[in-house]
Amino acid sequence: MAEHESLEFGKADFVLLDNVSLEEFMANLKLRFEKGRIYTYIGEVVVSVNPYRAMNIYGRDTIEQYKGRELYERPPHLFAIADAAYKAMKRRNKDTCIVISGESGAGKTEASKYIMQYIAAITNPSQRAEVERVKNMLLKSNCVLEAFGNAKTNRNDNSSRFGKYMDINFDFKGDPIGGHINNYLLEKSRVIFQQEGERSFHSFYQVSEGLTTDMKKLFLFCYADFKAVTDAMKVIGFTTEEIQTVYKILATILHLGNLKFGSDGDVTLIENSKLVSVLGDLLSTKDENVEKALLYRTVATGRDVIDKQHTHQEASYGRDALAKAIYERLFCWIVGRINDIIEVKNYDARVHGKNTVIGVLDIYGFEIFQNNSFEQFCINYCNEKLQQLFIQLVLKQEQEEYEREGIPWKHIDYFNNQIIVDLVEQQHKGIFAVLDEACMNVGKVTDEMFLQALNGKLAKHAHYTSRKLSPTDKNLEFDRDFRIRHYAGNVAYSVVGFIDKNKDTLFQDFKRLLYNSSNPVLKAMWPEGKLSITEVTKRPLTAATLFKNSMISLVENLARKEPYYVRCIKPNDVKSPLLFEHERCKHQVEYLGLLENVRVRRAGFANRQLYPRFLQRYKMISEFTWPNHDLPSDKEAVKRLLQGCGFEHDVAYGKTKVFIRTPRTIFSLEEQRAEM
Ligand code: ATP
Ligand code: MG
Repeated sequence: MAEHESLEFGKADFVLLDNVSLEEFMANLKLRFEKGRIYTYIGEVVVSVNPYRAMNIYGRDTIEQYKGRELYERPPHLFAIADAAYKAMKRRNKDTCIVISGESGAGKTEASKYIMQYIAAITNPSQRAEVERVKNMLLKSNCVLEAFGNAKTNRNDNSSRFGKYMDINFDFKGDPIGGHINNYLLEKSRVIFQQEGERSFHSFYQVSEGLTTDMKKLFLFCYADFKAVTDAMKVIGFTTEEIQTVYKILATILHLGNLKFGSDGDVTLIENSKLVSVLGDLLSTKDENVEKALLYRTVATGRDVIDKQHTHQEASYGRDALAKAIYERLFCWIVGRINDIIEVKNYDARVHGKNTVIGVLDIYGFEIFQNNSFEQFCINYCNEKLQQLFIQLVLKQEQEEYEREGIPWKHIDYFNNQIIVDLVEQQHKGIFAVLDEACMNVGKVTDEMFLQALNGKLAKHAHYTSRKLSPTDKNLEFDRDFRIRHYAGNVAYSVVGFIDKNKDTLFQDFKRLLYNSSNPVLKAMWPEGKLSITEVTKRPLTAATLFKNSMISLVENLARKEPYYVRCIKPNDVKSPLLFEHERCKHQVEYLGLLENVRVRRAGFANRQLYPRFLQRYKMISEFTWPNHDLPSDKEAVKRLLQGCGFEHDVAYGKTKVFIRTPRTIFSLEEQRAEM
């Protein structure tokens, strides 16, 4: 517990509150925010409030203050948590992870960057060139991923529109030797449509090569960012040809946005056909192939293969699907290229010992827009999964262990959101399953039919409703909406587009078009274009299923590591550094389960060890146990040892483990051990 700070700044750890009540919690949070203390602990969890102003607390001198220190020795900070995760990894050879959560605009991405900067700053004291190279690339990769994966939304000017989990690998010395990035569902629909006040991905405003001067004028042109991103790509190791292709793809998407279809009788045609040759150039393919792919699709009927002309509507759909798909593919390709370059190479565990990992998770936060669609549904489901992990790791397991060990314990209640996770992901019954089933149907399936199916299956579910089920509910405005009561609040989703977005169809012809490009970089992005129409048989997995599977494996992966948490709070909706909107903050404190976290933590124990292990480590500090004890059990021996040291008040004895309340006791034991 951080106790050294003056009380004028409030309590540095919520565990130290006189009374654990929502009022006191809020008063402390507000006081600290107003005093510029944006971080506060709950034990080892950092609660962070977005300051919305530059803070002078991330510099080299601050890093030095935290390096190698114990959590309670310095004011609460992200650096302390990063250091704790690093120490746990290094001392105990454990894989750790830092999970950063909070709603959109709460400060997750900024926090993840500071954490990475800290880790980079404290490692590699001997300045090994290879390690420096890896660190530099890890940091630079953030810049590139943000350019392509972030956008201005109405919640956040730099909102992450993809999920990112980054592993940093360390060698036995504790120096970073590589990394790996997993990316999760990019909100690609943003490429073709943005709600009012929002923008497309930053990259489009930075693009330069491949654009006509007219088009440049159309976009807010930020050359500085463009240069920074290009430089970062160069540093990471993208070739000139690759970088050029990246910008050609962006230009392609911009031109596709201007492409208009018309009809002449039954014939669909391209109105501004000059664009076709621009596209042909950008994609390094013949103009007529571009035109054909935009207007026709190849279909296999029995043994024949024929070209079927698109209707006007199909052509527009195809164009938009193409724009979205090539952006998504580009993004995944960028991540893949970064991974190729940063992944650990030439590491032999037999020679160098186990290679350990710190994972940093920064994913899109819970969000409610004016109009919420499939993407918001996925994003919010993801946040439910992470909340469930927090509950499992911080609230549930902890309490279950006390009960199992027979430690006197008054159960602390909390809202368990598993019921909402199930509502979304359960096999056969969950919303994703109903959606997939609708998409499997042959014939025309509409979004409305999907909604009907949901209403049929979920009518009785406490967290689901719709206009049909609750006709008098004034908060449900539209017939097309269904509403989920999420852990973080109610969200109405419009079903419009769910079926299409889930099927995520891209006509094969486009894949073949891109595969047949004479630009090798582009070609390599579309390997499946190799298949001819008669060879394509498998129905691809739906977007929902892919996302669900990726979330389940993400959570499994995190659960295998020792977790550290950063819980971010957004103080207001107007990006003000001064405004602490009480109700807004209170709501977040409630749904994040922070008060329950304090209660469990306060009643709980910071450390626990099996009796034999404890003895093995500390038996030398007591005459009763050194070199061997003659007491009836290890438990009795541990009791004698701790009584002798005067720590009786700070411990409890379970069936198989000793529980130690405050970290200070452990440090004191460690000191005594070191003095022996
Ligand atoms: P999303 O879920 O939309 O990606 P987020 O939680 O990642 O949101 P950030 O992008 O990290 O939110 O933060 C939003 C903005 O808040 C930043 O662009 C920055 O202006 C400000 N901000 C956040 N954290 C800090 C900080 N520690 N110091 C100064 N400003 C900050
Ligand atoms: Mg973010």
